[in-house]
Amino acid sequence: MYKDTNCGEPRESTVGSLITVAGWVHRRRDHGNLIFIDLRDRSGLLQVVFNPEYSEAAHELAGSLRSEWVVQITGKIVRRLPGAENPELPTGTVELSATKIVVLNKSLTPPFEVSDDIDVDDNTRLKYRFIDLRRPKMQAMLKLRHRVTHIMWDFLTENGFTQIETPILLKSTPEGARDYVVPSRVHPGQFYALPQSPQQLKQLLMVSGVERYFQIARSFRDEDLRADRQPEFTQLDFEMSFVHQDDVMAIVEELYLKIFHELLPDATVSDPFIRLSYTESMERFGTDKPDLRFGMELTTITETAATSDARVFQAVASSGGTIRGFVAPGCGNYGRRDTDRLTDFAKSSGAQGLVFIALDESAPSIDALEDDHIKSPLKKFLSIDIVKQLANETGAKPGDLMLIVAGTSRLVNTVLSNLRNEMARRLELVDENDVSLAWIYDFPLFEWDDDLNKWEPAHHVFSSPKAEHMQYLDTDPGKVLADLYDLVCNGQEMGSGSIRIHDKDIQTRVFGVIDYGEDEIQDRFGQLLTAFTYGAPPHGGMGLGLDRLVAILAGEQAIREVIAFPKTQSAVDPLFEAPAIITDQQLEELHIRVVMPEN
Ligand code: ASP
Repeated sequence: MYKDTNCGEPRESTVGSLITVAGWVHRRRDHGNLIFIDLRDRSGLLQVVFNPEYSEAAHELAGSLRSEWVVQITGKIVRRLPGAENPELPTGTVELSATKIVVLNKSLTPPFEVSDDIDVDDNTRLKYRFIDLRRPKMQAMLKLRHRVTHIMWDFLTENGFTQIETPILLKSTPEGARDYVVPSRVHPGQFYALPQSPQQLKQLLMVSGVERYFQIARSFRDEDLRADRQPEFTQLDFEMSFVHQDDVMAIVEELYLKIFHELLPDATVSDPFIRLSYTESMERFGTDKPDLRFGMELTTITETAATSDARVFQAVASSGGTIRGFVAPGCGNYGRRDTDRLTDFAKSSGAQGLVFIALDESAPSIDALEDDHIKSPLKKFLSIDIVKQLANETGAKPGDLMLIVAGTSRLVNTVLSNLRNEMARRLELVDENDVSLAWIYDFPLFEWDDDLNKWEPAHHVFSSPKAEHMQYLDTDPGKVLADLYDLVCNGQEMGSGSIRIHDKDIQTRVFGVIDYGEDEIQDRFGQLLTAFTYGAPPHGGMGLGLDRLVAILAGEQAIREVIAFPKTQSAVDPLFEAPAIITDQQLEELHIRVVMPEN
């Protein structure tokens, strides 16, 4: 070993010991005769002092050290002089008085400092990821991520799960995105598809009698580039046999509470998890990913609003649309600038406009509202009685602001749920210490795709219709709810799962609703349908995003921050410069000819 002690270890109790450390020169300070360096390894920083009285050679060499050089230093741990202690550092009461130094490697001047406090664009950080990862925050992230998977492994092992790796080179196992494909050299013109999740494989493992499977699995999805998506990401993927929805939820709940309690001990975590049906979630929050750390629930006010003289309300109501809103507490004094900003925000979410009704705080009560107390661009079309009624329906008090959107219910929900989050941010309603974990369940099995003009699976094709909804499968697919559940944390989706279909006939009927042709079914799902004819047990499971979980634990917004080597938002790896063109010879071997797009 090049070292017998880690930089972060020496304490007052080890004063007097002779040690050898190795690491990176974090900082150097020359104080006349004395040269100080902070030496860094993964355990932390240790101050080293070079005094020519102890070793002239070491002192001289120390003078030439630069940031990020790799060195090995031998010396004695001494107590720092009174007043020179650094309470910020665990090793801050001692220093290493160096007698020998060996330069193990030099370094160019790094493109940015190895410090948590840097202001560098993401591209540079990713291009020099090997330096970026030296930063204490990133080192902590790597360890945190490891601890999360360690807890998962231990917990699942104790609960009878077997970890099984499944192939990466396979055929499409769809989750609603495009496949990444890999050409086969030995089978000209044929391609493997990288799994969007190990879905079919884990279901096959249930037919194989494994009963409890898990994998920290890489999933590949060629999706349109959206903020905070990665083309490849990691899931805790698991599947269980002979279970109902509640059994799956119970396992996840126990595991996630353990993870949050161990890794965020000071957080207030929902225990038990909150449960909301999809319908209730949409009704109260306008989204299936509600942030439940604050209120401001939505109310439907279509009928009341439509009785006003406001044309926009009347038109929307008579064309089958919806009018909904929520109350921003204490915002009744918002001026033009604030409401303009909110309107712009609503428009950026797709709204035509945003209607607001501000109630002055000087009004003694809603019943006593007078004309002067009301501000709204629609004021002249809203009678006082209508405003009072709207206030009562939405729960607005004097001093509050009602925010109202009219349109199709999909649009209204999207806009209002985004606006609700935005208002919580502006009003600082979120207690960052709160972790709200919620199950959203009973999702519809299908959703209508306007572009394709047909039903598409809301999740994936393998989820089981609820037994009592089987009757609508062929006649009214939109009515079919499934044993389908999402885990949502602080307004972000953490994972999805379902009880699966394990019966060939039901699976075939579901394919029928989505209008898959016989050939397509055989080609993509033949193996699963065949397996279902050989004794498939009832089963269900989930795929839970590991990157998102670690990001939440680390207090990071972007999952890129918790992946060692992530891609940029345009799916590029700036370090390897991937994707890249390949040689003509490789193309030839793969029997591929590239036709570049025109522009
Ligand atoms: N395949 C997952 C499941 O277990 C879900 C997902 O990958 O999003 O249902």
